[in-house]
Amino acid sequence: KCSWQDFMLTCLQVAVRLRPLWNKEIEKDEFEIVRILDQKVVILMDPADILNEQNVLGKNRSKEKQYAFDFAFDKDAIQTEVFSKTTRFLCDGVLNGYNATVFAYGATGAGKTYTMLGTEDKPGIMFQTLKELFTKIKDYQIDRNYNIRVSFLEIYNEQIRDLIMVSSEVLDLREDPVKGVQVAGLSEIEVDTPEEILDLLIFGNRNRQVEATGANETSSRSHAVLQIICEHKDRDAGIEAEIRIGKLSLIDLAGSERASKTNNRGIRMIEGANINRSLLALGNCINMLHENNSKNQQNYIPFRDSKLTRLLKDSLGGNCRTVMIANISPSNACYEDTHNTLKYANRAKNI
Ligand code: ADP
Ligand code: MG
Repeated sequence: KCSWQDFMLTCLQVAVRLRPLWNKEIEKDEFEIVRILDQKVVILMDPADILNEQNVLGKNRSKEKQYAFDFAFDKDAIQTEVFSKTTRFLCDGVLNGYNATVFAYGATGAGKTYTMLGTEDKPGIMFQTLKELFTKIKDYQIDRNYNIRVSFLEIYNEQIRDLIMVSSEVLDLREDPVKGVQVAGLSEIEVDTPEEILDLLIFGNRNRQVEATGANETSSRSHAVLQIICEHKDRDAGIEAEIRIGKLSLIDLAGSERASKTNNRGIRMIEGANINRSLLALGNCINMLHENNSKNQQNYIPFRDSKLTRLLKDSLGGNCRTVMIANISPSNACYEDTHNTLKYANRAKNI
């Protein structure tokens, strides 16, 4: 098992973030069924047990489900804390030419977009990461030249579209023997300051496929992928200098709620199937990669099972660090989704 220190070097980190109950939920008499202990343990209560417990006092303790993670953020955790404990330590590696990936996983409304993108007042991991990279570059710049670029795309129904240069065009994935995985025609924006990027990300996020579903008024049915490409070469190595590229992929995954829960038909049902397929493929690849790592095996990794895993082929496993942030709601109304999210995250962790 990985300690936190080991993890910083090689392993997969899995964190859980609990969001607060909304006023709208309190007004509907929804109540909290999740507790966080010691910033590590998540306790999930079955809402039926809580309602029973009011009759049969203290009897149902044993029915609580407990899960332990590398980190569990309580509902009052602020954006900078979540960034510091999940993503900050990746920045150094990326500036030195290594790839890394951070995912926000969870059902619609659980807080994925808040965690990754955030709001103008409370910017999330995407912005904080850029800020950190630019702070760190100042030290490195003494003997290196850096070029930082970002691309922002969505995968919707197994099709890739640019979220910055908006058009309806579907983009192709190519595997270049030298450059690795490439999305042909995807725009890359050069960044000089992190501030200029925040508006662009908020703009890009609005371009995502957001549709009404049976489960919620609006829900993101697409995976949004921000890739921060950090290219550098040594200043005094002249024109022959080797270019090194580190890539950080920050991903706001599509809602993980099962298609069966929503009254979806036709296109909505196909979306649901595609989302489930890619989340399953992602879980499988992460599992296999880390099993290979820890047991020194060479199992075949099923990257080709979805667009998402194909895109991330050079950003998962090997030298790449992976962080998963599983977002959950505290409400009794979300018991099933929360349970499923904790099981998915726990499976990723138990490797
Ligand atoms: P998702 O992207 O998983 O569907 P959102 O990130 O859009 O969910 O969150 C749903 C709502 O809950 C948003 O209005 C968001 O601002 C709010 N929210 C989510 N997480 C938190 C949090 N940790 N603290 C405060 N508000 C939150
Ligand atoms: Mg969202």
